[in-house]
Order: sequence, then C-alpha cells, then structure tokens
Amino acid sequence: MLLVSDLKQYSYCPRIVYYRYCLPAIRPVTYKMEQGRLAQEDEEDRERRRSLRTYGLTEGERYFNLDVTSETLDLRGRIDLAIRCRDEAIVVEYKDSPGRAGQHIFRQLTAYAMLLEEHWGVPAWRGFIYFIPTRRVRDVSITPELRAEVRGALVAMREIVTGERMPEPPNQRAKCEVCEFRRFCNDVI
Ligand code: SF4
Repeated sequence: MLLVSDLKQYSYCPRIVYYRYCLPAIRPVTYKMEQGRLAQEDEEDRERRRSLRTYGLTEGERYFNLDVTSETLDLRGRIDLAIRCRDEAIVVEYKDSPGRAGQHIFRQLTAYAMLLEEHWGVPAWRGFIYFIPTRRVRDVSITPELRAEVRGALVAMREIVTGERMPEPPNQRAKCEVCEFRRFCNDVI
C-alpha cells in the first residue's frame, strides 16, 4: 500500500519513489526534515488553543494526526488535522515554509481529502494549508482535476515500483540541488 507522502515525493521527483520501494536502504533524514517535524509538533500545541475561526468555521470537531486508509485507492496516510463538520470533512496540512505551495502540496492535500471522504463517509470539497512561519492560511478546492491527477499519479507510481524501473531525473535540475537524495544520484550534477 502506497503512502500519501510518497505521492508528494513522486510529484517532486518520481525517482524518490523508486528509491523508497526498490532500494529501501536509501533513506536519508536531513536536518531540514527533522526541523520540519519539530515545527509541526509545536504548531499542533498552538492549534489546540486556536479557534476554528482561523479557517472561517463556526463549528466542527478537530482530530489531530488521524490515520486514514483506503482499500479502494490502496493508499494510506496520516492527516495533520482533520475537521469534521456537519456536512463536510476538511483536511488541514501544516507547512514549514513561508507561504508558497507547489502542485505536489495540492495533490497531497487532495489525496488526504479523498481518504477522509472514504473514512468518514462525508464529502471533502475543500482543504487548508497552514503556513507555520507566517501563520497564513490558504484554502484549496478539491477539484475533479486534482482528484484525476492523484489517481493518475498512483497508477504511474505503481508502474515504477512493480517494474523496478528507475525514472529519469526531473527536467528542472534546480530540484536536484536541494534534494536530500542527491548524493545517491550519480547522473545529476
Ligand atoms: S537528486 Fe534529482 S534525480 Fe535524484 S532524487 Fe533528487 S530530484 Fe530526483
């Protein structure tokens, strides 16, 4: 079963998924990743004291670090914060970055929303990204296009894993310059 975090990594560079499943001994943990984890723990403490008004909501029950699994999608993950309202389910994803989110973050949020729908049996048509350093909130619509992107990416990821095929590096080589897997990729400068 794939993880939602794999989907985010795949969107950044498909090769990372190959490393994780086909060469599992390669598992770098960087200072940056550790700092992100600590920042998220601090934010959870603050979130418990925060009002739902941060998200423009007047009602809802909060669930932290909710584990969700979908047999349909063959996918699982842990949601930073899930809010259950009367007629909708909402995913909140914390980001330890100043306020920009790439397509990989939108896909990750969408995948969590799809898992949460199946878990609670209520629709999830929007989510929020909470940028920890700036304390800004961005709302994201869970569109049919994003859902299709998630499904397409899951198919492509499974092809990589079952075929044990190492993908080419991304065209944007700037990604490699800041990638924690860089020392394992001998074909990138
Ligand atoms: S260094 Fe480049 S090719 Fe290697 S995993 Fe990272 S982004 Fe992909």
